[in-house]
Amino acid sequence: MPIRVLPSELIDQIAAGEVIERPASVAKELCENSLDAGATRILIDIEHGGVGLIRVQDDGRGIPAEELALALARHATSKIGSLDDLAAIHTLGFRGEALPSIASVARLRVVSRAAGSERAWEIAAEGGQVRPIRPAAHPPGTTVEVRDLFFNVPARRKFVRTEATESGHIARLVERLALARSDVCFRLRRGERVVLETPGAPSGAEPRALEALRVAAILGEEFLAGALPLDHRAGPVRLHGWLGAPTGAYASPEQQFCFVNGRAVRDRLLLNAVRVGYRDVLYHGRHPAYVLHLELEPRLVDVNAHPQKLEVRFREPRQVHEFVFRAVERTLAATHPAPAAQPPGRPAAARAGTPPPAAAAGYRTSALELEAASESRDPWRLAAAVREAAAPESPRARAAGGPAQPLGAALAQLLGIYILAQGEGGLVLVDMHAAHERVLYEQLKRQFEAHAPASQLLLEPLTIELRGEEIERLLEEDAEWARVGFELEQLAPTQLAVRRVPAMLAGADVAALVRQVARDLEGDCGAHHLESAAHRLLGTLACRSAIQAHRSLTLAEMNALLRQMESTERADQCNHGRPTWVRLSLAELDRLFLRGR
Ligand code: ADP
Ligand code: MG
Repeated sequence: MPIRVLPSELIDQIAAGEVIERPASVAKELCENSLDAGATRILIDIEHGGVGLIRVQDDGRGIPAEELALALARHATSKIGSLDDLAAIHTLGFRGEALPSIASVARLRVVSRAAGSERAWEIAAEGGQVRPIRPAAHPPGTTVEVRDLFFNVPARRKFVRTEATESGHIARLVERLALARSDVCFRLRRGERVVLETPGAPSGAEPRALEALRVAAILGEEFLAGALPLDHRAGPVRLHGWLGAPTGAYASPEQQFCFVNGRAVRDRLLLNAVRVGYRDVLYHGRHPAYVLHLELEPRLVDVNAHPQKLEVRFREPRQVHEFVFRAVERTLAATHPAPAAQPPGRPAAARAGTPPPAAAAGYRTSALELEAASESRDPWRLAAAVREAAAPESPRARAAGGPAQPLGAALAQLLGIYILAQGEGGLVLVDMHAAHERVLYEQLKRQFEAHAPASQLLLEPLTIELRGEEIERLLEEDAEWARVGFELEQLAPTQLAVRRVPAMLAGADVAALVRQVARDLEGDCGAHHLESAAHRLLGTLACRSAIQAHRSLTLAEMNALLRQMESTERADQCNHGRPTWVRLSLAELDRLFLRGR
């Protein structure tokens, strides 16, 4: 075949393949247009998994009659006008591709009444053929209706799954949008049935309170009650949201929500930074739930790096990784025994099936600033419920003088495994090995980080076989190795010698550590490879040195452990993410004995 220029309709269809993968992609593009138009209310209706119909109605600023035809033209957008704008995107859309792409693979109708205009106009297109505009009836805002998706692209239609699957994708999408924009009201209907409806935002509500409501609506009040709120700022970057309790992690990563400047992303660097932040407190193979919003100057992030904009490119990837990782780590470090909540936390053990709620370990969403939500207004009943579920005490109150010994006084040792203690308001059960392991581990880490660790010259250097580029990458971090007490040297193209090791790690499997770091460096995410590998070794040391089951302890020893736990970061979970202690309140004990009924 000779070279030919493709007909424009075919060009549009090929381009559509980039962005319109399935019905949910259409829903995403339409909703994002509504958000870009400043909508406060977005109503989505779907039929037949979105293949039959996707209709999105908004109350945004609308499209003036004279621009309606342009809205369907390729590369026509009202959102950027210059290369400079492209470097600092403030909107979700900017390529001017969505509407023409959709028009080329479906039957499209747009009805809009622009702000300040008396009348509405509509335009329709079918398989890329645009019809002239004509007057219509519509309140201020826009409705876009897409019918018979892929009717003219059989190859695409084959990839559409069942109605339930496609509807599910659309529901997940609306959930993400609803989490991203808690100031906007969403309603999704499948046929006549309302699948999802989020309450609107009364004016003057605190953004943080609104976010809490959204999080409760989408991830559940249980999640919110156990989650740790965070809000960190550093110069032009801010990370805020909620970290799910490590002990409440899931088997799959579905409950992980990341937003960059209000855009839902599945960005590798961010996912990694959060994972590393959780590494110390998470049960192996579990996935924490979280909702995280990263906000930074648009100039510091390129959102034009992925066809569906799911990944972004940061101008300073290392800094962003470091910032996110530290923020997550610091927040999670605050999980140490706290006074019992009122009403008392539920016992972890009593809840079959679900992982133990964080409430059992006594930490709370205390920093939630829900005060702004007035209880008197009806839509805020949920806010009140959320506030009730969260404890009244805040970290400040805790510092100001809650009971100093929330774990109480040791009573006895049970079966050589557990410590029983009389805590404030009830019985405290401590897994003594797990708790001691965490205490030791935190001590080791602090020593390791605080002083340049004592290092020990090996009588005979340890030689390790590695690939040439692995050795090169390892030696690039030379200063870092020296800082923590290692001395490395290349012996041969594929041979590395370790001459010095930190004294603390003498006897540990240093070769395995070096290999692990080499592997981590290949992933190239931030500069915590060495630290995290060393931590893994320290964790093993802590586990080996922690009191083993069946060693009997005196009351004084038990009390000493309880006091250490109270002053140890992350003491609520052992190094593997299991809870180290639970509290049974008097009320819960009473319930067991059916007292007071
Ligand atoms: P982009 O969003 O990248 O600009 P689209 O093809 O999605 O490209 O939309 C083209 C243009 O149509 C937008 O730039 C905007 O001006 C207008 N538009 C689309 N949807 C809406 C809407 N719901 N409300 C107001 N204007 C809209
Ligand atoms: Mg768009």
